[in-house]
Amino acid sequence: MSDNAKANVVSARIDATLEAMSPFLRFFQDSAWSGRDPKHQDNCDFVFGNPHEMPLPEFVSSLQRNLPPQDQDWYAYKVNEPESRRTIAESLRERRGLPFEPQDVFVTNGAFAALSVSICTLIDPGDEIIFISPPWFFYESIIVNYGGNPVRVKIDDSTLDLDLEAIAAAITKRTRAIIVNSPNNPTGKIFPPETLQALANLLTEASERNGSPIYLLSDEAYSRIIFDDLEYPSPTSYYPNSLLIYTYGKTLLTPGQRIGYIALPPTMPSRAKLRNALLAAQLVTGFAFPNALLQHSLAELETLSIDIPKLQRKRDRLTDELGAMGYEVKPPEGTFYLLVRSPLHDDLAFCEALAAQKVYVLPGTVFEMPGFFRISLTANDEMVERSLPGFAAALKRTPSTIATPAEA
Ligand code: PMP
Repeated sequence: MSDNAKANVVSARIDATLEAMSPFLRFFQDSAWSGRDPKHQDNCDFVFGNPHEMPLPEFVSSLQRNLPPQDQDWYAYKVNEPESRRTIAESLRERRGLPFEPQDVFVTNGAFAALSVSICTLIDPGDEIIFISPPWFFYESIIVNYGGNPVRVKIDDSTLDLDLEAIAAAITKRTRAIIVNSPNNPTGKIFPPETLQALANLLTEASERNGSPIYLLSDEAYSRIIFDDLEYPSPTSYYPNSLLIYTYGKTLLTPGQRIGYIALPPTMPSRAKLRNALLAAQLVTGFAFPNALLQHSLAELETLSIDIPKLQRKRDRLTDELGAMGYEVKPPEGTFYLLVRSPLHDDLAFCEALAAQKVYVLPGTVFEMPGFFRISLTANDEMVERSLPGFAAALKRTPSTIATPAEA
């Protein structure tokens, strides 16, 4: 094979997509965590938001109840089924106080698909999408995969809030959308109403200047995982040109059973134009609909949730325990992640030191926050307990001359 033929084995587009996800893939394929024995009983695996307890019994019984076919179409092709759309629109009406319409709901296999479908619908090659850093791992790759230019805007480090001036400065004639994730993975920040109103104002002005709307993709994967009885203001309540993106995978802690949605708020002007476009994108991105069984169960699944007060107690326990050891912890307002400052500047090295204790966490380098690491609170209580000596031992072995939390 000539060099040229070799170079063309995969498309330049997927090559660029791969490059954008390389920090994640490096960790996933080549770290102490990836090399661990996943069945080892001493492991304390806090890396991803996976369940470490049995699923909700009501979740299982709902799927069991809906498994036997009730008619010949039970397992036929399922798209944006009217019953699913009604269930979701009703839930949004109740939660958000806005008259969401069933035909503005697009049922997807999780937020992954909802993001892909939305981005596929909105951009032409060369268009820009702003994403906020630290981001969720795959925003940049999804944008690149659809030929877009990802434009990174950092948060305000001191407040973890959006940096509105930086967002305004990043907008150009080619800006088609901005992705906002609140509550935020990995910081746990809920962006406050003042910020969302100011963001809406600046997006409205910029859209008028551009002569076409800049859409807000509101990634609300964790909108039902809120602590301390805080209010959750949705960006979609402030800015009409929003696409609300949700997944049940977090609220139910069943990310392997893929169901979520895109919803257009009733305040969005001329949204009829988007309806067929989103359907087309669902079809061409690989039939991005949840499977039949999940759609049959949706009305029941919609009412379920993992135990949020229990999650909050785990947040508080780890915050207190790690804080007492000398770690600097940033307790989240929502989500199931805890952000901790790495005692070493080199978060990858510190995470390897934790891994030597069989405590596995996600290094900040993987999510554009070098100098930090992320703990998933989906760990069970027993694992939390068992991990504490490991956290203490890794900290004790950290050479204090390299960095202290205050210097890092
Ligand atoms: N957005 C954010 C912020 C996430 O954290 C995740 C999952 N980790 C997703 C989207 C994707 O969710 P799902 O896997 O349920 O599609």
